[in-house]
Amino acid sequence: MINVLVNGAGGRMGSEVVRAVHAEKDMTVVAAVDPGHAGEDVGQVTGLGNLGITIAPDLETGLANAKVDVVVDFTNPSVIFENARKVVSKGVHMVIGTTGLTAEQREELSEMAAKTGSHILIAPNFCMGAVLLMKVSEEIARYMPDVEIIELHHNHKYDAPSGTAKLTAEKIARARQTAPAEDMTRESLPGVRGGKYEGVTIHSVRLPGYVAHQEVLFGGYGETLTLRHDSLNRQSFMPGVILAVRKVSDHPGLTYGLENYLE
Ligand code: NAD
Repeated sequence: MINVLVNGAGGRMGSEVVRAVHAEKDMTVVAAVDPGHAGEDVGQVTGLGNLGITIAPDLETGLANAKVDVVVDFTNPSVIFENARKVVSKGVHMVIGTTGLTAEQREELSEMAAKTGSHILIAPNFCMGAVLLMKVSEEIARYMPDVEIIELHHNHKYDAPSGTAKLTAEKIARARQTAPAEDMTRESLPGVRGGKYEGVTIHSVRLPGYVAHQEVLFGGYGETLTLRHDSLNRQSFMPGVILAVRKVSDHPGLTYGLENYLE
């Protein structure tokens, strides 16, 4: 049985994780943390009925309350680095869905994990379709180097561009074998051409009604190729989160991207 602590358990993603872990036979929620819901029963907060697990106000209390194998974190970018340092320093495995960790912070966590024996998975996107979209984009970019990304999310998302768009751009930048064509356009409105990350242009749309969507547009001579993925609800992330909880103990060190856990 895998003992799971859900950090951010009262949030939109965190409560989905509590319900998903609760539904599995080989894992169980043993602790929950969320300062916004401290003192409440995690089952009541997530619609499962009383589970007898009180939501702790902070990670220290949550980790002290139970024997935890894996912490799943869906909190927010302003606290994720501190959260990860606390968990990794205790040698506990961690599955991170929260976006916003920089490359330097990932490096620091990786070094810490090497010392404490903690395994870390950071996945900007747990949705299988989105992970496959990244893989395919990488393959296409080898032959079609001219590409832009449009990512579309709800207006309550904290960060822009999305972690998935950045990871897609990194993969495309590494895969391109030739330089993209020169962009001849000069902006008359700052920002109208989007932002560049790793040399790939990203456009971030934020509107009520969207969940999480991404298009990757490739342009060639006399042809275009467009890939689109849509996450229609937060349940779409759960098969990936469950897979990560199950496999994190097999993958030492820090792994970036769920695709590395796919056989
Ligand atoms: P949310 O605001 O609904 O939930 C965040 C929860 O974290 C809140 O309940 C808040 O009280 C709690 N929290 C804040 N500080 C905390 C702390 N220090 N310790 C513990 N809990 C704390 O947000 P959300 O929509 O659930 O998204 C959470 C994060 O997950 C965001 O960074 C979002 O971008 C990311 N996300 C990732 C994926 C993915 O596939 N990787 C998918 C969706 C969302």
